[in-house]
Amino acid sequence: MRLICLLAILAGTLAAAPVGGVPVLMYHMVDPHTPPGAVGRSLTIEPSVFEAQLGWLRAHAIRTLTMNDLADALRRGQHPRNAVVLTFDDGYTDGATVVTPILRKYGDRASFYISAGFVGDGKHAGWAQLRTMRADGMEIGCHGTRHLDLSVVSPKEAAHEVTACVAALSRYVARPTTYAYPAGRWNAATLILMQRSGIKAALTERPGIVTSLAAPYTLPRRRVDRSAGLASFAALATP
Ligand SMILES: [Zn+2]
Repeated sequence: MRLICLLAILAGTLAAAPVGGVPVLMYHMVDPHTPPGAVGRSLTIEPSVFEAQLGWLRAHAIRTLTMNDLADALRRGQHPRNAVVLTFDDGYTDGATVVTPILRKYGDRASFYISAGFVGDGKHAGWAQLRTMRADGMEIGCHGTRHLDLSVVSPKEAAHEVTACVAALSRYVARPTTYAYPAGRWNAATLILMQRSGIKAALTERPGIVTSLAAPYTLPRRRVDRSAGLASFAALATP
């Protein structure tokens, strides 16, 4: 009887053991020049802070995957450990001029989510820069066409937001396979649009870490705040 109890406890312990999982971290800008205004400021991280974060990942043997890599691994039934996905939203110019050079210095990779309608407008990276980033191992994914909130626009506008971004990236960079929703927002129609567009995985701003592709179009992400110290970053970057 005692043995049965012990086995039951052991089985319970095994069942409760964490499956692992990969944190997906959300950034916007990494720039020595902080833009004016509270919003721009909160979205911008100092390059030295970002380098310290990559140094912490390296010191703890945590590797960086792109979102596409993670989706492929999960589809193959693999569950990467000691891994993190770094994502950068909006496609600002610093993605090409600051972030990618730092990532390359550390041998890291990231996924950049681009709003196709803003490419090359002076504030956002141009197509040639995005192609170079991809050649350097970065993933270029979709973040809408005009960065509209998919949960509030009309079905026609929502369809345009998704399909025009996929078409533009397919034409000028490479076919995108993952998506990040502007403001993390979506609705039931969004999920159908993702499937029809051949997207493998899409990111919200729901808290949590990615453990499977059971719900591939509502995956969680963790925001890295400007004010996050290295201890907070460590908590964000580990399951
Ligand atoms: Zn955005």
